Amino acid sequence: MVHLSLGEDGRINSIRPAPNEMRQRILHFEAEAQRIALETPSHEEGINISRVNRFIERQGLPVRPAILIYPEEAPLLRERLAVIGWQDRMVDKLGTTDSDGVLWEGGYIDRLGAAIIVRNRAAEEVNGPLYTECTVVHELAHADFYDTIAYSSDPLRYHLPRRGLVIASTPPDPQALGVTLEEGLPAFLEVGYLREEGGLPHGVLGKPGWRITGSGDALPNEYVWKDPNHPDGALVSTPALMGYGIELLVRARPELYSTLIGARRSVQHLRQVPRLLHSIRPGLYDDLRKLSYSKEDFSIALRNIKASLGMRL
Ligand SMILES: [Zn+2]
Repeated sequence: MVHLSLGEDGRINSIRPAPNEMRQRILHFEAEAQRIALETPSHEEGINISRVNRFIERQGLPVRPAILIYPEEAPLLRERLAVIGWQDRMVDKLGTTDSDGVLWEGGYIDRLGAAIIVRNRAAEEVNGPLYTECTVVHELAHADFYDTIAYSSDPLRYHLPRRGLVIASTPPDPQALGVTLEEGLPAFLEVGYLREEGGLPHGVLGKPGWRITGSGDALPNEYVWKDPNHPDGALVSTPALMGYGIELLVRARPELYSTLIGARRSVQHLRQVPRLLHSIRPGLYDDLRKLSYSKEDFSIALRNIKASLGMRL
C-alpha cells in the first residue's frame, strides 16, 4: 500500500509506503466492503458459473467471485456500501441505463476483488443464458494479480496505479491509457467461450457471416448478439470491435495471446506487449494505447490494426 502526496495541480509529488496505522485502517475498511458485497445473494439460476470459472482458469487468469444481481437490486447494494462510507464510480453505474437506453451490465470492481454482473432479462430472453455467461467471462477477465492500493489523503481518495493493461496517467486524471488493449482481451475471450463452451462457433446467430456496425466496421457474427428490441437488428457491445482487433493481432502473432494473459501478473510480459505490437508495425502500440473507451475510438483502433496487418478496410 502506498501513499501519494499530490500537488495543487493533482500531480504526484511523492510516493511513500503507507504508515502502518493508515494501512490497518484502510485494509479493515476494504475488508468490510468486500464482506458486504460477498454477502449479497447472487442470482445464478440458469447460469453455469462453474463452467465459466473453469474456462477462466484454463486461460491462466485468476478466478474471482462473480455476484449476479438484477437491475432493481443495484440501489440496495449501493446503500449497504454507503452505510460504511464506501463508494466507487463503477458501483454507482450498476443497473443504470445510458442516454441510448443501454443497461450498464456490470464490471470487475478491483477494490472488492469481485465482478458484479447485472442480469439483462430482455437480452437473456432472446440470446439464452450464454449472454450472461459471456458477460461474466468478460468481467472476470479484467481481474489481475496487481493489488497495490494507492491512496492520497485530505480528503481520502483511492487511485488505481494499474488495472491490467490500463495505466492511469496521473491518478486523479480520469484519462487512462491502454483501454483499447484492456477491453480487447475480455471481448475476444467471450467469443472463445462461445466457441469452446457454448458450441456456437458462429455465435447466437448460428451461421457464419458478417454484420456491419454503426461505425461501418464489419464484424464476424460471433461478436454479435440478437437485439431484444429489434428482431432484425444486432446487439454489439462497445468492446466487441476491439475483441475482433485482438483476434486479428493474435492470428498474426500467436504468442501475443499468452503475453496478454501473462501481462496481468508479470511486468516482463507487460513489457513484451509493446515489443510484439511494434514488430507488426512500429508505433502500433503507441497509437492504440492513447485511444479512449468509445465506439468511435475502438473503430479507429480496429482500422489501424487492419491497416497495420495490410488488410483491406
Ligand atoms: Zn470490459
